[in-house]
Amino acid sequence: MNKIMLCAICNVSSGGCSEDCAYCTQSAKWGADIKKYRQKSIADILNEAKIAKNNHALGFCLVTAGEGLDDKKLDFICEAAHTISREVPELMLIACNGIASFEALSELKKAGIFSYNHNLETSKEFFPKICSTHTWEARFETNLNAKRAGLMLCCGGIYGLGESENDRKSFRRSLGELEPFTSPINFFISNPALPINPPRLSADEALKIIRESSSELPNVRFMVAGGRERILGSRQYEVLENGASAIVIGDYLTTAGEVPSKAIVQLKDLGFEFLDKCEH
Ligand code: SF4
Repeated sequence: MNKIMLCAICNVSSGGCSEDCAYCTQSAKWGADIKKYRQKSIADILNEAKIAKNNHALGFCLVTAGEGLDDKKLDFICEAAHTISREVPELMLIACNGIASFEALSELKKAGIFSYNHNLETSKEFFPKICSTHTWEARFETNLNAKRAGLMLCCGGIYGLGESENDRKSFRRSLGELEPFTSPINFFISNPALPINPPRLSADEALKIIRESSSELPNVRFMVAGGRERILGSRQYEVLENGASAIVIGDYLTTAGEVPSKAIVQLKDLGFEFLDKCEH
């Protein structure tokens, strides 16, 4: 029986970001029609954590919009981590709060965060074409800080932004340097508010990306995240035959995912079991 890992995402704060990442509807610059809020309450976050656990999620990721992890956000994420660890200790907590210092990441670790997610997104060469307000190097540096702070690394990116085959290879070489524990693969979903409108990836191309990622980085656990349903449709679980061993359950940051109860039934029918502890 094949075991896969499920992760759920909690978008702690949504929208209003001052950065200009061209693929992201949370940037205030693009004025996309998304749900915006400053911060969920600890009670709401805890409730989502309990739902995630019931949906067989092992990972629970606390995401905040914005460039980085300032003191206020840090305190809040630490408080959320303490509460969830106490009430739902089975969950493996991941924080995703942007560019962060070694000191801030060390505080997250002390608060019970297991892993830090900060995506490189794409290649070093292509990144300046999709973001002008921060550098790829700052993203790389945050990943190094997270490792140094003793956090497991969750670092991946997004495909289908108009990047070349060489960019994809260069991006994966950089991932290889970081040796993440888990690597999310996202597929770009177009939105009329965004400044880019590259050709949509086909399902075959998306599956090829997963295959190539896992053959180039055999020690990395690839997790298919945003865009899985939109790009792959009825073929979405083929990702698990093509090198992925983890997927996101439930909704994404600003887009809806597969209904969890439906996903669980389909995955069980396909013969999958869900990891209930980290085998690392
Ligand atoms: S990817 Fe992160 S930093 Fe970039 S616009 Fe979106 S929320 Fe802001």
